Amino acid sequence: MSAHGIGDELREALDDFCRLGRVLVASDYDGCIAPIQPRPELAVPNPDSLAALLACAERRDTLAAMISGRARDDLAAISGAGDPLVLVGSHGAEFDTGFDQPLTVDQQTLLDRIIAEFRSIAEKIPGTSVETKPASTTLHVRNATPEDGDVALQLANDGPAGWHGVHATKGKAVIELAVIETSKGLALDRLREGYGAEAVLYLGDDVTDEKAFAHLLRRDGAPHDGRGKDVGIKVGDGKTAAEFRVPTTDGVTAVLEYVAAHRPGA
Ligand SMILES: [Mg+2]
Repeated sequence: MSAHGIGDELREALDDFCRLGRVLVASDYDGCIAPIQPRPELAVPNPDSLAALLACAERRDTLAAMISGRARDDLAAISGAGDPLVLVGSHGAEFDTGFDQPLTVDQQTLLDRIIAEFRSIAEKIPGTSVETKPASTTLHVRNATPEDGDVALQLANDGPAGWHGVHATKGKAVIELAVIETSKGLALDRLREGYGAEAVLYLGDDVTDEKAFAHLLRRDGAPHDGRGKDVGIKVGDGKTAAEFRVPTTDGVTAVLEYVAAHRPGA
């Protein structure tokens, strides 16, 4: 490990990344910029990480973004972040211009049915709660006993997760059901193309971030052809398609501070 708490291979990748022209620096919020808390409404940002991401945004030819599963309004409120950071909510589906497509009547009806089902699960099982968003709803089980949490997730899985038109995303102690297709990978593609970025750096900690990592062009050639300049960094343990890893949210701070210090215009 270097003095920055970043491994040598990652530091080399960051050095290469920082020498490029236009780049996109993007991170998930919960579990990356904000340490995980027992309740989502308590997850405030690590001030050093947020400051470092903002510092990246102020560097020349550098776009910085947070891409979260939260509703975009919720992400803005809890993080306190805004311009010049780009905020993308609802797992990549919700930009500052809103959703690409408003919900149809059928999708809204379906969403209302899922919410009703989740609320009936939450009433029966202690420690579970329901979060509603514009195009999805989430059942949280982090405060339930492991046994109760498993029962709640199983009920959601066996029930509304299988309904026609429902897109399920399973995270750590949560299941989210959306009535539109969402992907952090598609959001990264959209930001990359819109900005004309030569490369993308992405930090993520959860299952939903794997869709983002899968859209990166890896430097080591897999699964692409070895010409990638992107840097994918998984935060914490667990199987991942990312090429690099940092153990905790302190590593997120270290990476963002390193990039902010080494991009042109620092
Ligand atoms: Mg996360």
